[in-house]
Amino acid sequence: MDYIVDNVRRIQDAISQAAAKSGRPPEDVTLVGVTKTIDIPRIQALLDLGVVNLGENKPQELCGKYAVLGDCAHWHLIGHLQTNKVKSVIDKASMIHSVDSLRLAEEIDKRSKSVQKIMDVLIEVNIAGEFSKQGVEPEKTLDFIDSLLYLTNIHVCGLMCIAPYVDNPEKNRNYFVKMKQLFIDANGTILHNKEMKHLSMGMSNDFQIAVEEGATMVRIGTGIFGERFYV
Ligand SMILES: *Cc1c(COP(=O)(O)O)cnc(C)c1O
Repeated sequence: MDYIVDNVRRIQDAISQAAAKSGRPPEDVTLVGVTKTIDIPRIQALLDLGVVNLGENKPQELCGKYAVLGDCAHWHLIGHLQTNKVKSVIDKASMIHSVDSLRLAEEIDKRSKSVQKIMDVLIEVNIAGEFSKQGVEPEKTLDFIDSLLYLTNIHVCGLMCIAPYVDNPEKNRNYFVKMKQLFIDANGTILHNKEMKHLSMGMSNDFQIAVEEGATMVRIGTGIFGERFYV
């Protein structure tokens, strides 16, 4: 599994360079290794390299892997989350990147209370206004965050987006710039359950551009493990 070692080194170098371009140290950017469809031995190879933040998009898959690896990793739920699946991941996930409705936020809050936890969440923004994508409309994001004020067991710690799939990643730069501005604007009000620290944006195809524009978390699967094969 030497290819995993090589890929991770290459990605970490590219992150460092992109962070430097935006005047930041490499530690400013967390690499979230996206492990959906990836088996345990390959995930273990990633953990051995010190990449301990793992992203899964399906609750059931996260739970299955958690049963084996437990708290050796920090689990990030990065995909769309249905309210009826919140309960299964609440005690396992350390961050939920995909909050985009009041109903979902309320359910996360309620379930967090029942396990005496405060869950770190990111607000997913549909930055390009794509019909096929989840997320809050950019114009509604600040009001949405304010509407979560009364939820005491969630901690709103940033924003997330999935940029469009493009052949040339430069095409997404403008969306990342918009995300950064929203992030700054969201910092403008002080709420007890909000502390904007993270901007989760950038995937295998476009993470360098995202980091240049201020990403603090990049979510990378293919770049580490190669193409995914769905069975
Ligand atoms: C699959 C996935 C990724 C990683 O995509 P790659 O192109 O393989 O790096 C990132 N974020 C989300 C939400 C995903 O579902």
